[in-house]
Amino acid sequence: MKTIKVSVVTPDGPVYDSDVEMVSTKAQSGELGILPGHIPLVAPLQIGAVRLKKDGKTEFIAVSGGFLEVRPDQVTVLAQSAEKASDIDVERAIRAKERAEQRMKEQRLEHTDFRRAELALQRAINRLAVSERRM
Ligand code: ATP
Repeated sequence: MKTIKVSVVTPDGPVYDSDVEMVSTKAQSGELGILPGHIPLVAPLQIGAVRLKKDGKTEFIAVSGGFLEVRPDQVTVLAQSAEKASDIDVERAIRAKERAEQRMKEQRLEHTDFRRAELALQRAINRLAVSERRM
């Protein structure tokens, strides 16, 4: 079966490097499925999961936004943070979710602080969903 090379890179270093049969992810414009030979494109990503089909199995990576670059034989995901499902610390994500929810309930919260808490909540929910491989 044809494969495409995938690299997920963060400022802390590479998180994933492998040849896979298919990559699916959430671009800001919607769900994107990429097979080998896909036309080149660059797209901003949402906070979400990257799903990788490899040897008949699906692997999941949580990414907190960033960019996707597709070339016919290579997909690169450049993200501020990314974790493989098995590397996610569930307790930490639960604490982050609770902190963000608390913050969003505060009175007189500045718009930018509310937005920051909302994004932290989305990252935590995404990590929890990916750790349970629900995405
Ligand atoms: P927290 O408040 O728990 O730090 P956060 O969403 O603010 O969560 P980020 O700024 O997105 O965290 O990430 C900071 C670093 O910590 C990144 O390297 C990221 O991969 C890692 N990280 C964050 N949360 C988790 C988690 N639950 N499990 C594993 N790694 C995590």
